[in-house]
Amino acid sequence: MILMKFGGTSVANSEAIQRAISIIGSKLDERPIVVVSAMSKVTDMLYRIADMAAAQDEAQTSLLLEQLRERHITVASELLANSGHMLNEAISEINNICDYLEKVVTSVCALGELSARSKAIIISRGENLSSTIIYHAMNASGIDTELIDARQMIITSGDTLIGDPIFDEINNRVPGIIEKGYKGMKAVITQGFISSTIDGEPSVLGRGGSDYTASLIGMAVDAKRIEIWTDVDGVRTADPRRVEGTKCLDKISFEEAAEMAHFGAKVLHPLTIEPAINKNIPILVLNSTNPQHPGTSIMGNDAIADGVKAVSWKEDILLINIFSPKMINATGFVQKVFKVFRDYNVSVDLISTSEANISVTVAGQQNVDQVVEHLSQFAEVHVFTDKSQVSIIGKNVINYGDVLQRLMNALKGNNLYMISQGASNINISFVVDRIDLTAIVNTIHSNLFAQQS
Ligand code: ADP
Ligand code: ASP
Ligand code: MG
Repeated sequence: MILMKFGGTSVANSEAIQRAISIIGSKLDERPIVVVSAMSKVTDMLYRIADMAAAQDEAQTSLLLEQLRERHITVASELLANSGHMLNEAISEINNICDYLEKVVTSVCALGELSARSKAIIISRGENLSSTIIYHAMNASGIDTELIDARQMIITSGDTLIGDPIFDEINNRVPGIIEKGYKGMKAVITQGFISSTIDGEPSVLGRGGSDYTASLIGMAVDAKRIEIWTDVDGVRTADPRRVEGTKCLDKISFEEAAEMAHFGAKVLHPLTIEPAINKNIPILVLNSTNPQHPGTSIMGNDAIADGVKAVSWKEDILLINIFSPKMINATGFVQKVFKVFRDYNVSVDLISTSEANISVTVAGQQNVDQVVEHLSQFAEVHVFTDKSQVSIIGKNVINYGDVLQRLMNALKGNNLYMISQGASNINISFVVDRIDLTAIVNTIHSNLFAQQS
């Protein structure tokens, strides 16, 4: 079996869906399990609807809900124009999903209160809608397909909105459900991103979570391959939306891909790699608008050469400096500092220490104010905003040729707030002014890659 995950832009409209279906159709002999995201921008819209409902903005929520319904009915109508009863079925299912969504949104509006449960229900609907349409369109194009509800397979604990998948539960459930779904069929399709708790309560895997769904199912069925179909020719040396002249990487290791994703490269959800490593299943990142391109293979470390592979970044981070003269020659200070971060559930990205100082970076998290307030009770704390964190990623990057030299040349003349080298030898990261980010990543990229043979 193979996993084939199609992201939002790969199912953005009827043309994109047709393209995805013809790619799936060319691989039926490998028994595809198709995982789909919501159509492009739909999940963003659902998050907005949830917030507007909480703010009791009835007029705006109804407007957006109507647009959502119309967009999906239009796409279904285009795809199923010649399929008679299938179009009627699809439209009636779309209407059911939208009616339920409207009911939940109306009750949130009435109360002016948005529980995590209601939010999970609202933001899940994009995948319900897209999978329903694509399921009918696959059948209409002659691929007998079963639609499987991902919430029976992907079971999470912890945070409802960034669920923590329970691997054992998923491994136990998925193979049977997929086998049953496959009876008499040529393919099965399910939703990315959406999940449920062991008690059947709704949850989701967090933004971009459809990649993670694909690798979790891949792990559970021992898939031969996990294909991530997106809108770029594989993993590149940097995000092409920001950096000129990026190149596609033929192959990178699981560790390199995980590090890139953790340090800001949006091409994969950061946790996608873990289930694949568990079973040593290769991940392929492929372009649905250019399916002939071989894309990028992500695989075990042995087949991967040393050297710098990519530049990634987190644009908006906080740099926190914690100073205390008591740290000098004192044991237990570091532990005391990090206990505060743990108590408020704030994870840190980079850490560096000097004799009386600890510097850390944190990205996009709640509770940072409380952490700072608490730390200030026993240390001098400075928070620097408008900073970005840039990472150079690659196997044995530190020891490789003159990478450090080239990096330092590229950074000449810029303020450099912190440098940190991962113990794994796979990552050098540093903090710069946010205003300089685009120029810096372009210079670094051209210094590191243009001259690399
Ligand atoms: P999907 O909707 O298919 O999941 P995403 O938008 O989540 O797609 O991810 C694909 C996007 O990731 C690309 O359009 C690209 O701009 C961005 N990206 C960031 N870093 C990289 C990188 N190193 N290589 C390729 N794409 C990257
Ligand atoms: N639709 C979800 C999101 O936009 C999940 C995904 O696309 O991977 O975050
Ligand atoms: Mg994505």
